[in-house]
Amino acid sequence: MPSTFSVCDISKMDSSLLNPRPTVDDSSFILPRLQGSCKASNMALNEQIRQLMAQGKTIYHFGFGQSPFPVVDGARRALAQHAGENAYLPVAGLLELRAQICNFHAELDGLMHLDPNLVIVGPGTKQLIYLLVQVFNGDVLILSPSWITYKPMTVLAGKRAFEVASSMQDGWKLTPEILEKAILESNTSTNRLLIFCNPDNPTGISYSEPDLKALSVVLRKHNVIVLSDEIYGHTQYEGDFLSLAKYYPEGTIISSGLSKCFSAGGWRCGYSIYPKELTALHQTVCSASSHTHSCAAAPVQYAAIHIFKLDEETKEYIKGCRCIMGAVAKFCHRELTGCGIKAIMPVAGYYIFPDFEVLRAVLEARGIQTCEQMCEALFKEGNVAVMAGGPAFMRPLTEFTVRLCFVNFDGGAALEGWKLQGCKEKLDQDFLDKYCSPVVQGIKAIVSWVEKQLAEL
Ligand code: PMP
Repeated sequence: MPSTFSVCDISKMDSSLLNPRPTVDDSSFILPRLQGSCKASNMALNEQIRQLMAQGKTIYHFGFGQSPFPVVDGARRALAQHAGENAYLPVAGLLELRAQICNFHAELDGLMHLDPNLVIVGPGTKQLIYLLVQVFNGDVLILSPSWITYKPMTVLAGKRAFEVASSMQDGWKLTPEILEKAILESNTSTNRLLIFCNPDNPTGISYSEPDLKALSVVLRKHNVIVLSDEIYGHTQYEGDFLSLAKYYPEGTIISSGLSKCFSAGGWRCGYSIYPKELTALHQTVCSASSHTHSCAAAPVQYAAIHIFKLDEETKEYIKGCRCIMGAVAKFCHRELTGCGIKAIMPVAGYYIFPDFEVLRAVLEARGIQTCEQMCEALFKEGNVAVMAGGPAFMRPLTEFTVRLCFVNFDGGAALEGWKLQGCKEKLDQDFLDKYCSPVVQGIKAIVSWVEKQLAEL
């Protein structure tokens, strides 16, 4: 295992982040720090796998994490109704939508301090996080492991990034000790922005009240601003999601959108909510938005007003999605850990981040030394596609962690099945076999590949 803590100036290590590709003649036109950059590796992998599947190859696809569910009917109707809205909207988004977003977080998360004037709606949270990083005057702290985009967007924005490594022993959580040490060792005299994903991609963990309170003490002490990426917040399978903004309101910028719990990633609609203490930052991101994307798509914003009103249909939809994903997550965790792989049980989202360390001896005997090589073998021998941990997730090359997205099933049929079974809180194996069979089969394929490797020992 890697040490429980490490901090380094990763902005100096761009080549490991940006997958190499043959130099082209026009490379001198590209900024040196962006030479050789590729599109997000998950999106590239997904495109390749989809092509192979279209050619008829059986592949158990755990490589791409988007919601498996259809958009809720009421939202589709609202979008169709507003297809004629063709005017540019305010840069920060429709005021009615911003107010509705604040109501939504007040009702579901108990956040009563949010101000619609400090919300900005944009074409996806990715764009809004990027613009924040771009205008931020300081360095960025990023967790390892973390979502594959935070680091490349920080490099793209020309900012220094510092890695804060968590470990499986700590349940992949950022602890106050790790945070404080990272702040002190990051050797920066300037401002700091922590990018904090809760619930987390790729580990599926989320933070409890004591966790968030303890982190807030350190953040407040060092005046660290936090981008709290809560896009998976309302996918949490059981219990209520807790936002850092409840405990550290003055320094937390909430980021969320339609892509996960509302299954509308392709609609491209996200938002950030700033605290009153960061009004100038909000204004500057609005200004940057006005000069880059102008506003989020008008029909989508009108439909989003309907979504955030949270009618009974939408509430039931969220409940069904959470229940199904929870059952799938439990199955994946149980089966993988049952054959000796180490993994923390996810509590939200679409991912699990297992460590295949148990195979190290046999893999090394086969000449397999990196996670990518292991994933290649798993693909060739087991027809299973997963994303290698390693540098894309800011993990060491030789750690055998992978990100597995357990979403390859027909979410529409599963939701119908959930309703047919009377919207039960717990779903059994028969349900998973019937409605989530590609995931069940794929996990079995992984387990059988692992068992075969272990038999070689
Ligand atoms: N944050 C995280 C942690 C994500 O996993 C994703 C999508 N994979 C996003 C943000 C992007 O969201 P959006 O579609 O709003 O740009």
